Amino acid sequence: MDKSEVKRIIDEHIRFMVWDMQLQKWEIETTLDVLEDGDHAVCVADHSYSRASITIDYTRCKDEADVLSTLRHELSHILHAPFDTYRRSIRHLVQDDGAWEAMEHVYKTAAEQTRTAIENMLRYGYGIMPGKRADYVAPSVNPYAEEPEIPHGGAITP
Ligand SMILES: [Zn+2]
Repeated sequence: MDKSEVKRIIDEHIRFMVWDMQLQKWEIETTLDVLEDGDHAVCVADHSYSRASITIDYTRCKDEADVLSTLRHELSHILHAPFDTYRRSIRHLVQDDGAWEAMEHVYKTAAEQTRTAIENMLRYGYGIMPGKRADYVAPSVNPYAEEPEIPHGGAITP
């Protein structure tokens, strides 16, 4: 797809998708590039600083639905970023490359399975397709805002 068209789709939808996944505390940078290793997209998330970088290979995007599915896939990876902190923390403790390779395989498989479960929950459990929802009604950000005021020192009487 054309790079500017992919950018337009992301700009139109990302803040709504971030809200749907409650990732507002994250500083998320998206980059459109050509990835050499065959990946459609990659996400690098740093849980310590709540920063994530998503790179999408726009040349591999087929259409708008594909862009949005790819974006949600990468946003889902941010949800398990705390496990990545663990992974990076133990790296220097594993000297055996074969052992590390096996651990990486298990980590990546578990990460993709978790991400798939999140996607299935959103898509099939809640009926939330990737992208901005046309039928969305925003709840009150603070549910307590609608509670009746409690008089100082008193109890609420019906
Ligand atoms: Zn993935």
